[in-house]
Amino acid sequence: MLNKRSSFTGGIHPPYSKGLTKAKQIELCKVPELVTIPLQQNIGAPCQSLVKKGDKILLGQKIGQPRGYVSAPVHSSVSGSVKSIETADLPTGVRFPCVIIENDGSDTLDPSIKPGKLEDFSREELINIIMESGIVGMGGAAFPTHVKLSPPSDKTIDTVILNGSECEPYLTSDYRLMIEKPDDIIYGLKVIMKILDVSKAFIGIEDDKPDAIYAIEAASKDESGINVVKLHTKYPQGAEKQMIQVILGRQVPSGGLPMDVGTEVNNVGTAAAIAETVKTGKPLYQRIVTVSGGAVREPKNLMVRIGTSFKDVIDCCGGWIEEPVKVIAGGPMMGCAQHTLIVPVMKGTSGILLFTEKEAYEREPSNCIRCARCVEVCPIRLAPLYISAHSLKGNMEEAEKLNAMDCIECGSCSYICPASRPLLPSIMVAKKAIIADRKRQAEADQHRQNKR
Ligand code: SF4
Ligand code: SF4
Repeated sequence: MLNKRSSFTGGIHPPYSKGLTKAKQIELCKVPELVTIPLQQNIGAPCQSLVKKGDKILLGQKIGQPRGYVSAPVHSSVSGSVKSIETADLPTGVRFPCVIIENDGSDTLDPSIKPGKLEDFSREELINIIMESGIVGMGGAAFPTHVKLSPPSDKTIDTVILNGSECEPYLTSDYRLMIEKPDDIIYGLKVIMKILDVSKAFIGIEDDKPDAIYAIEAASKDESGINVVKLHTKYPQGAEKQMIQVILGRQVPSGGLPMDVGTEVNNVGTAAAIAETVKTGKPLYQRIVTVSGGAVREPKNLMVRIGTSFKDVIDCCGGWIEEPVKVIAGGPMMGCAQHTLIVPVMKGTSGILLFTEKEAYEREPSNCIRCARCVEVCPIRLAPLYISAHSLKGNMEEAEKLNAMDCIECGSCSYICPASRPLLPSIMVAKKAIIADRKRQAEADQHRQNKR
């Protein structure tokens, strides 16, 4: 094991609050009578439905076909029949068409699903298996994994990193996975290494998870080229650029990607999902979700079928002790607040947090006191106070000049601000406006070129 010498600049130490579920083994969540499967669950293009009302459906059957390469198909998480295809609320805060399936309770598996072995497949076949299985980044970003594992020919990848830091407070699904299924994680890592043709890999785990470090080390002890790296516990240790900086000492350039510095970073959950699909042929139709927070009766780590409603998942934890004042999909730093529990678990849903009034306490914003603490904690070395101030005045050009687009939306600045300034929300507004403006300009340029 490598003890990592340095840390990234900035970062914070929020209360980690993982004790509620840290010792809870992964349990199966009751499979509901009805699942709501969104036709978009990833960054990139949405899917087109392959089914219609009344169709009989098998467990693991592909029901959504991607409309572009940067996308991932969706599969049924139950067997049964299609009740309807309708627009529904998603935990990402949008409404989108979903396939609603009535579960027949038999879990009849699609017969085209066949087990396999890593040695049986070429690199191209492995990429195709991952693409057809609908695997996306399981850490929450939900970027299609087959795209990440297909860098352009002018990029040379020499090292792979697996992210086992799980630095978001409350969440323990990756932690439990590392303890309970370390062999799957290593198997999935070997698939990734074969695809990218690399012989060197690091698995980064924060030093507050010694038993996870022990389990992963034991599972990888006979594998050459795989090293476990013990990282300082600090948020956002799990951010890609920070992991690369700490583990490889390489700096991803502004606007660049990990492949620009010869590496790819995947979550340990993604590696385990890859192992599952290569070994069993089953596509991604379930995931581990941490259900936690002071309002939950019995906090748990649950294996949940995609499309199960938050309400059904919470019921599986005995409901709540007191009505939560805030419900979050994901972690408290980067997650999304919910206005209803009738939203489905998606491929990127790492947690469901139910906060009491005390946990969700928010102060009224006051004037900035120019203390610069937001600058000190920003892991990207941005000036959140100025970007935010420009955004609030609608001055997006100035926000762009201050590199607003490099913000990784970690929320460290908002967390530390003694004046409770709305730093991250206003920076996110600026980013959206800049993206929209760039798109408009690109369309205008295209229009001009077409006229020539
Ligand atoms: S500006 Fe962005 S990257 Fe920097 S601390 Fe705030 S949210 Fe994180
Ligand atoms: S942390 Fe808050 S109060 Fe301090 S400089 Fe930044 S925005 Fe202003």
